[in-house]
Amino acid sequence: ATPTSIMVGTGRAAELGVLFRKGEALQSLRDVQVVAMDKTGTLTEGRPELTDFEVHGIAPDEALSLIAAVESPSEHPIAAAIVAAARAKGLAPAAVAGFEAIPGFGARGQVQGREVAVGADRYMAKLGLDVASFAATAERLGQQGRTPLYAAIDGRLAAVIAVSDPVKPTTPSAIAALHAMGLKVAMITGDNRRTAEAIARTLGIDEVVAEVLPEGKVEAIARLKHKGRVAFVGDGINDAPALAAADVGIAIGTGTDIAIESADVVLMSGDLKGVPTAIGLSQAVIRNIK
Ligand code: ADP
Ligand code: MG
Repeated sequence: ATPTSIMVGTGRAAELGVLFRKGEALQSLRDVQVVAMDKTGTLTEGRPELTDFEVHGIAPDEALSLIAAVESPSEHPIAAAIVAAARAKGLAPAAVAGFEAIPGFGARGQVQGREVAVGADRYMAKLGLDVASFAATAERLGQQGRTPLYAAIDGRLAAVIAVSDPVKPTTPSAIAALHAMGLKVAMITGDNRRTAEAIARTLGIDEVVAEVLPEGKVEAIARLKHKGRVAFVGDGINDAPALAAADVGIAIGTGTDIAIESADVVLMSGDLKGVPTAIGLSQAVIRNIK
């Protein structure tokens, strides 16, 4: 493409809320065959809410206040959901000592002299706890598109929790537009496999890579690259390496600074319809100059 046609294309994109940080991206987007998307905060709002809370051998309010306390220093959206649920019940979070966030797994710390850990099943496995007694509940929650989580208090499995994160209203039409352009759509997420698959099914997503650790997203992109040129859309700190590894990195404008800095293209409003818009523009620009 000529410098002028790129300028016109990127100018038109900007009017539509799609910011090209690199002019070359307009050309590389044209040849994209697979659009991979992060789930939380990209396909979904990224503001989960607590939907289920089941305890074993402890009073519900006591468990919720201990778990919310340990989540209160965390920046994870799941932590915010748990803290909000405790606050809604009038439970003020107690102080935490020795707080630790374990990316892709969960969080832990001491509250009122008790050891509290909360996170995914793989985190409980890491702690040597068997979640089998909650397996049926977790399976049902996953099939409902909810994320099952577990909490251990003083080394004993004490609660199963679920959060649900609504799909953005613009996500289904963005995916339909990508499919209409003949593109494959994939989801890459650290979330539970059943949950991810349930959401992917409702959205008609072609391929799901679930339960990936933060460093596994780059590997997932590398594998998708065997199928063609890959664009990756993401919003989080975890997504920055994958945004850089993709042929075209597309960040959600309302996402983290590091994601935006790692991307070639930024969707200013966070509306995923910007993805088919940008690809459509790239094709139009290249066609015009031929
Ligand atoms: P993603 O952003 O793709 O959803 P993350 O790597 O942030 O993935 O998290 C993966 C999983 O790790 C979450 O779905 C959750 O089960 C668990 N997890 C991570 N941090 C926390 C936390 N602070 N509280 C509870 N669960 C957590
Ligand atoms: Mg995200």
